[in-house]
Amino acid sequence: MTGTRDKQTEERHRAMVDLLRKRGIRSQRVLDAMQRVPRDIFVPRHLAELAYEDGALPIGEGQTISQPYVVALMTEAAGISAESRVLEIGTGSGYSTAVLASIAGQVFSIERHEALAEAALRRLSETGVENATIKIGDGTLGWPERAPFDAIVVAAAGPRIPDALRAQLAIGGRLIMPVGSGAGPQTLTSVVRRGTNDFETRSLSKVSFVPLIGAQGWQR
Ligand code: SAM
Repeated sequence: MTGTRDKQTEERHRAMVDLLRKRGIRSQRVLDAMQRVPRDIFVPRHLAELAYEDGALPIGEGQTISQPYVVALMTEAAGISAESRVLEIGTGSGYSTAVLASIAGQVFSIERHEALAEAALRRLSETGVENATIKIGDGTLGWPERAPFDAIVVAAAGPRIPDALRAQLAIGGRLIMPVGSGAGPQTLTSVVRRGTNDFETRSLSKVSFVPLIGAQGWQR
């Protein structure tokens, strides 16, 4: 997936993955995915030099590409395998979509900003991702026609876990989402669906995300 890139970019990419390992990412599957996906393709061209720093960067529309460590942490927590059907809310640049798609069987991703969704689609096609589908809309309502999902990853912070997303989680499936005020920090939360009405909730860590705007998120 990385194609031909200059030596310095490749070294920075390797150093970023080493840092993720040092910061506690254990899953080799996730570390390999972080090594496969070229983050420099997903950041605005004038910020390409910063693509392998462990930080969020602006991508337009007041939104950001997520910090690599947080993408790795959420992907690891989601427990995805090659058979997984994954729903992602907040496509943004498409970077985390590409990371998820490099592990999962199928990824469905929803973005509310049309311009971001279109740019993400172009980048996913440029990097050869063929198992991700993007839709423009309100991700707080999920994607009922494609449910159930083995994993749901929400890349924006809402006031609570949307009921629509709980309902679209497969039994045994896992949802990862930052919960808390738009001003942050928020609590990265894991929900495992143990039975039809049985959800096990756990707090994972403190994070800082842009707000989840929608019918079952924050008001605009
Ligand atoms: N993980 C992405 C990446 O790697 O580039 C970055 C995601 S960014 C932190 C959060 C995204 O969620 C923004 O692009 C924002 O427009 C989107 N968003 C916020 N509320 C949403 C909603 N209800 N439905 C879909 N997307 C939403």
